[in-house]
Amino acid sequence: MTSTPKIVETEENIYECDVVIIASGMNRRKLPLPEEKTFAGLGVHYCELCDGHMYQDKIIAVMGGGNAAVDAANFLTKYTNKLYLIHRSEFRADEFSQKRLKENPKVEIMLQTEIKKLHGKGRLESIDILDKKTGETKNIAIDGIFVNIGVEPNTKLFAGQIDMSESGRIIAGEDCRTNVDGVFAAGDVREKEIRQLTTAAADGTTAALLAEKYLAKLKA
Ligand SMILES: Cc1cc2nc3c(=O)[nH]c(=O)nc-3n(C[C@H](O)[C@H](O)[C@H](O)COP(=O)(O)OP(=O)(O)OC[C@H]3O[C@@H](n4cnc5c(N)ncnc54)[C@H](O)[C@@H]3O)c2cc1C
Repeated sequence: MTSTPKIVETEENIYECDVVIIASGMNRRKLPLPEEKTFAGLGVHYCELCDGHMYQDKIIAVMGGGNAAVDAANFLTKYTNKLYLIHRSEFRADEFSQKRLKENPKVEIMLQTEIKKLHGKGRLESIDILDKKTGETKNIAIDGIFVNIGVEPNTKLFAGQIDMSESGRIIAGEDCRTNVDGVFAAGDVREKEIRQLTTAAADGTTAALLAEKYLAKLKA
């Protein structure tokens, strides 16, 4: 990656190029239950900004205990009647976000709990929750779960070649330039706060135009 030209190896070919734009995105960690596939999009969701509006006056559970989960839960309280925060251990989110959530009367926080099974005909209707302290399992009615148990940026390939943040995303500014000359990062793979289709598309435009400029300079 740091060489000139850069060598990009795919399953079929090896390319020599002067510029590389990395746009490999990220994967969200899925709810680790066999029924996940049955209810994906039918009660099991991964993006509160994208799907939260479907749960006006409904009952929601948010799974996770980090900042992303607690911020998602705070956001979703504007739609929901009742929100359960389900997390298998203790909170890792910052104090401010935790306080906001704890003070909201719509919210019930269930730490040391795990979702064990999903139920529903056609779409999600209820879940079984294990209380790890008592060993008891109970069933609660739920219209939707928002799973927020982490993401995996598709960057393993670039480890050691390019600067990355602690979360494994590529460090690049709004100009999408990385620490390596001629290498740009665009979309969810880049370390930034908002990850949406529009921000990914905007990054793509920026990276492409600045890549063109970089090439023109190389050839001058
Ligand atoms: C369930 C869900 C719902 C969403 N709904 C919305 C919504 O309603 N509105 C909204 O604005 N945003 C939504 N988002 C977020 C949005 O999808 C992302 O922000 C956006 O797709 C990011 O674009 P991207 O190009 O950076 O990455 P991606 O869209 O993830 O594309 C990355 C591509 O790179 C490929 N790739 C990975 N590794 C390699 C490799 N080594 N070599 C070659 N190719 C590779 C992947 O297969 C993939 O095709 C949603 C996300 C999820 C998960």
